[in-house]
Amino acid sequence: MLSGRRYRLDLTEEQSGFAERIGGACRSVWNTALEQRRTYRRRGRFIGYHEQARQLVEAKQDFGWLGEVPGHCLQQTLIDLDQACARHGTWKVRWKSKARNAPSFRFPEGGKITVERLNRRWARAKLPKLGWVRFRLTRPLGGKVKNATISRDGRHWYVSFLVDDGLTTSERHANPGSAVGVDRGVVKVVTRSDGRFHHQVFAREREVEHARKLQRDVARTMRGSARRRRAAARVADLARKIRNRRQDFAARTAHVLAADFELIVFEALAVRNMTAGVEPRPDPGRPGVFLVNGAASKSGLNRAILDKGWHRIELATRSRARHTGTHVITVNPAYTSQRCNVCTVVDRKSRESQAVFRCTSCGHIEHADVNAAKNILTAGRAEHAQAGPAVRVGARKPRNRVGRKANRQATAAQATAQPEPELAGIPRL
Ligand SMILES: [Zn+2]
Repeated sequence: MLSGRRYRLDLTEEQSGFAERIGGACRSVWNTALEQRRTYRRRGRFIGYHEQARQLVEAKQDFGWLGEVPGHCLQQTLIDLDQACARHGTWKVRWKSKARNAPSFRFPEGGKITVERLNRRWARAKLPKLGWVRFRLTRPLGGKVKNATISRDGRHWYVSFLVDDGLTTSERHANPGSAVGVDRGVVKVVTRSDGRFHHQVFAREREVEHARKLQRDVARTMRGSARRRRAAARVADLARKIRNRRQDFAARTAHVLAADFELIVFEALAVRNMTAGVEPRPDPGRPGVFLVNGAASKSGLNRAILDKGWHRIELATRSRARHTGTHVITVNPAYTSQRCNVCTVVDRKSRESQAVFRCTSCGHIEHADVNAAKNILTAGRAEHAQAGPAVRVGARKPRNRVGRKANRQATAAQATAQPEPELAGIPRL
């Protein structure tokens, strides 16, 4: 089974400078290749991975800074872009900006990566061109390395290994027949159908106050100034702290849920609303001027504070479920908070307040979120029984199909690909 392991790197100054340059080169390749794809599309043409990879080889001879960085990382960037465009459409895929996107690049070939343990605390990995990099061995690697991703988060660099741990998905759960419905909310992050809660405050009140002050500090400084950079770094540090707490909470919650239950039912989240950017709202009276569109509340620190990590909890649970033999399914969230779990009558008025559900039909009184969680469980049980135990809903769908195929064919295709006819004015890589 494939699983991820992330460690903090201890790079030398020279290495972190080089890593920054690799990240920069990957970003340039991403942006240029995306612009190229868009230009082709605007002219009713299409350019795909193979032709872009071929042009990349040529570009490396013309530009020293491209030739200097590991070629596989650049190729991987083109594969990632290919997948992003296939999944979301060429026009939805975003540019990578130096300010917004921290550098991140992948060494796709596990066979070219050597990992050695140095002592109890430290290990090192040998990566193409980057050489030996030291990292804190906070947990055993526990498997064969398939690839490695280097990324920076704030000041620190990290390496994430994808390892094949040799384990197989557990076929039988320790508690056969056990099932739970999970309601994700704001007042309590997780409410279970058995009446238990998993909750944590991710941003304390004082931190929220402090964050607002830091944001004002940023607003007062000049664009591009060193003071602004320092102030922005402090905001990012705080956001990261909050994010780490949420990630930790998600992992612990997932661990408990998967260990205790054979079937876990979530309600399907409207992910689009949660993650998509906000459309700009032009002011009809004044061209070039935009109205408030709520984008601020969806970005950066505000998001870090408001976000309860609902999606993260589900992801962590699915990942954990592979080890325990748990089935994770999602059900339609319609009416789960308005339906009485005893008499099944749906009535908006039954939801008396944020906390209390009082059925207008049979008088049943319950904590509103527990009632919702029970409805989620009921819906999930029905769906699961219908699908039958043979259907592994918890198992991951094969991702990266495009990527793996591209990977496999890359070398062959580079040799055989017919160059696209030249189009006037199209940027080449
Ligand atoms: Zn009722």
